[in-house]
Amino acid sequence: MEKCIFKNKTVYANNVTKHFIDEKLIREAGGKNQLLCYGCGQPVTYNRGEIRKAYFSHKKDHEKCDYDKYSKLCQNRSEGWHKIKEMLYQHFVHRYPNAEIEKSDKLIPNHWTDISITLGTDKKYAIEIADKRISSKKLTDICTVYKNNSIIFDWIVLDKVTDLQTDMDAYYIKRARLNESANNTLIVVDIDDLSLAMYKMDINKYIYTHTTIEHSFEGNIFCYKTTVGNLILKDDSLSTEGFDEKYADWLNCRKSEFEAENGIRQERSLRRREKSKNNNTSVKSGVLQNNHFKNPSRLNPRYHGRVYTEWSEVDFRNIVVSIAKGQSSYLLKQVEGRLKQAGSSEFFAFISLYEKAKEAVKEKPYAQQYVDVFEQILINIGRDSYLIR
Ligand SMILES: [Zn+2]
Repeated sequence: MEKCIFKNKTVYANNVTKHFIDEKLIREAGGKNQLLCYGCGQPVTYNRGEIRKAYFSHKKDHEKCDYDKYSKLCQNRSEGWHKIKEMLYQHFVHRYPNAEIEKSDKLIPNHWTDISITLGTDKKYAIEIADKRISSKKLTDICTVYKNNSIIFDWIVLDKVTDLQTDMDAYYIKRARLNESANNTLIVVDIDDLSLAMYKMDINKYIYTHTTIEHSFEGNIFCYKTTVGNLILKDDSLSTEGFDEKYADWLNCRKSEFEAENGIRQERSLRRREKSKNNNTSVKSGVLQNNHFKNPSRLNPRYHGRVYTEWSEVDFRNIVVSIAKGQSSYLLKQVEGRLKQAGSSEFFAFISLYEKAKEAVKEKPYAQQYVDVFEQILINIGRDSYLIR
């Protein structure tokens, strides 16, 4: 057991070890039955060898002591788990000097909380340090009891820090936190290099105007890599310094990507409707003109048989404006990928728009921002011979 009660105060075994005089005092107090178990109140003694870390143990009869059971469970935990628990405890003690912080605290029945933090008079946080293989039932049971007792709780999962695209890719506990935590966030501490990552799942729906079709992103999880030193308590969960701002930037990029694509789709459907209206009038009036015939869609073998719809000047214009506004690297990649596959008419639609922008700068200097985007794209796809000097 890592702690005991001595004269109504908590004593941690590893603190006793630091100074000879403390070890002497505590050993003698143990002899006089003055050290009491945190769980059952029975006398305990202080033990320390030269290899194993210091600990307290019962003198006798402790079959029913749940603190003893918890301590034995902890003994089986990895060295990394103990190291991270101590590191987190030290971090919170320094970060919140006025808070009451305990390791192994009994906040709820039949369970010992790894770290508890009491801020102010009644705001209590329970921090659980979990192995990634924790069972669903145990996770749910603990969360339910915390909720029923109005204790704020969060989990720190020990695992490798990796990029997650969707919650399906994650171990169960990570997936459960992304879906069920207060802000759809998840905190992982890397058991090897002790780095920390905070993840947040974007639960917004991105549905195109006038349809039920959802925009498909590559993933919906934002990952922010930082260190344990930046861990903070925020409202009703754990968070990290600077996370909210970075997440907001990421979310804005997603929104502009969606809006650009939505604009392109709206424009296209508008043009389709215009076209069919024109066709109808001309059929009615009995006049058929050449431009009423639709060009056959070109099948691009690279698109595996799917119909390849060419982008027009309007499409390129919308996306270039979005890139100039939002600096979205995703959109930039989208246009570049598109142009690499484009046939000559699509490519020249892009060049013609670039020429117009270049021309416009003479009268409207703000158009330079669009010219910059065009030129960056041409350089990136290796077509710099098209740059207008
Ligand atoms: Zn006990």
